[in-house]
Amino acid sequence: MSTHARRFGLGAGVLAVLAMGNGLTLPLSAALPPITVRGRFVCVSPAAERDGSCSSGRVGIRVAGGRVFIFLPNDLAVALYADPRLRARELQVTALRHDGDRLESIRVRSIRDGRLYEITYVCDVCQITSSVPGPCPCCQKALALVETPVTY
Ligand SMILES: [Zn+2]
Repeated sequence: MSTHARRFGLGAGVLAVLAMGNGLTLPLSAALPPITVRGRFVCVSPAAERDGSCSSGRVGIRVAGGRVFIFLPNDLAVALYADPRLRARELQVTALRHDGDRLESIRVRSIRDGRLYEITYVCDVCQITSSVPGPCPCCQKALALVETPVTY
């Protein structure tokens, strides 16, 4: 598998969107309107937020104006919440919006100095790229965060 394909390994929402052009039977979520929001990670159980842990159904994003969207429990954004560097960043999330202001992420990008960055995790030893943080599946070394400026 190419490194490019690996980067989108968790992007179930992307597949759902792409499938719309093929006339296939769609999962329910594919009919939901995608939205793009900017904000910062938040854990809706404040006691847990202090030590960086947050149960998976309580990770959300607080956007301008104070509104909070919660990510689905197995969402890409929930995995990214584990990275303290991303908890400190402003983020741009494109997601399918489910009932109850719950989001199914299609893409998560970071914002630094007003510029958008692609988020990837790499093991420079094994040349492995992942969309989520954690140990390298090959050598177990912690994957390193790489933010690449988005160019249009
Ligand atoms: Zn490795």
